[in-house]
Amino acid sequence: MKERPTIIYIMSNQRSGSTLIENVLSKSSQIVSLGEAALLSGHIHKTGPGSNWDWNCSCGESLLECDFWNKIYRKLEISDPREITNTRIDNPKGEDKAKQKSNNDKVKALMNQIYKAVFETTKCNVLVDSSKEAFHGTSLYQNSPFNFKFIYLRRDLRAVSISKQKWWKRYGGEDKSLLRFLLSNYLHRMRYSSMLRSVKKEDIYYLKYEEFFDNPQKILDEMSNFFGFDAYEMPEYMELNNDHTIAGTPNRFEKRKIKYDDQWHSTAKKLPLFNALGYILNKIG
Ligand SMILES: [Zn+2]
Repeated sequence: MKERPTIIYIMSNQRSGSTLIENVLSKSSQIVSLGEAALLSGHIHKTGPGSNWDWNCSCGESLLECDFWNKIYRKLEISDPREITNTRIDNPKGEDKAKQKSNNDKVKALMNQIYKAVFETTKCNVLVDSSKEAFHGTSLYQNSPFNFKFIYLRRDLRAVSISKQKWWKRYGGEDKSLLRFLLSNYLHRMRYSSMLRSVKKEDIYYLKYEEFFDNPQKILDEMSNFFGFDAYEMPEYMELNNDHTIAGTPNRFEKRKIKYDDQWHSTAKKLPLFNALGYILNKIG
């Protein structure tokens, strides 16, 4: 029997390196990366996160013009990509839960069709989806027709908080202290860890962002063993080449050397309470 194709779903907080990991994995000839596939409908309709790059595909074309994505749409049971109105599974809340659940079932069926179309189109047998969201990912995992696995990526809570605050300010957000970012990132981590309890241990690859940089080739080799793709040489640069990914870090359009970004250390050192509390929360979380 032919083995089922593999989905690698990257689950993480924002600003945790998911675009880097997604980009590194996409360099294997066996792996295709979609980026944050949950944001596909937003990018098609140019709404929600993505205004920075005008919601374009990473190839530079709009999601209606991109050749790659048009090949995928043609394999779906739709006549126009604009019929794709929702690609994100959210936790049903409030009234009308039954309706939300039935919508979620439709999104799940659509995502599975998209994955299948990508496997058929690319001849790759491993697909990376860096949508990050835990509820979305664990929903797709349940009874998946694919060999569905997770990378649970965590980064130092202080680094995530400092980076988030920087982007928050850049987009004109109101004053919000680093301690508040730190606590909300800690709660985010608790929530994500608890959602992973519904996933079998053997389907989760735990990755700490900082440890990746200690020896990237070693981590890449471990992932090749874990997910079953052939080992390859760790790329030196993060760069797009012929990728058709959705969303990701705003920096991803420039070619960059892959190296640990330690700038947050100097900010943290000036803030002893934040620094110490972050250290402790990292240890217990
Ligand atoms: Zn494209």
